[in-house]
Amino acid sequence: MGILDRYARKPREEIRDKTVTTKLTGSEYERFQEYCAARGLAVSEAVRLLILAEMDEAPTVQAVAGRVRQTGGTRWTMAPYLNPDGVTFRCPVCGEDIHRSNGARHARTHGYPGTRELLEGGKRDDE
Ligand SMILES: [Zn+2]
Repeated sequence: MGILDRYARKPREEIRDKTVTTKLTGSEYERFQEYCAARGLAVSEAVRLLILAEMDEAPTVQAVAGRVRQTGGTRWTMAPYLNPDGVTFRCPVCGEDIHRSNGARHARTHGYPGTRELLEGGKRDDE
């Protein structure tokens, strides 16, 4: 077997040519980089593994923080609650437009465990 045979692409293999970009603070990045390095993983490799694992695990019933979450095909999404801009939703409590990536954090400021509970008027942590 030649050296290049090891790297030869199989004809039907999909090519990884899409990039996922995200921004972290300096300290978040350092923490994640050290976390990955301790496991012998590159940051980009770890991100890929996390994404794939998340999607593989999504259609299962999981116990999350003591609750059973049913995700089989009908996973909850905030999509129906989003404003026309597609990235913000109107908080039903304070009326502010909140970016979807800050939903969970914002929900907690009103005492809800997550975005879903906030938007669907579910139970608050203190109830
Ligand atoms: Zn609010």
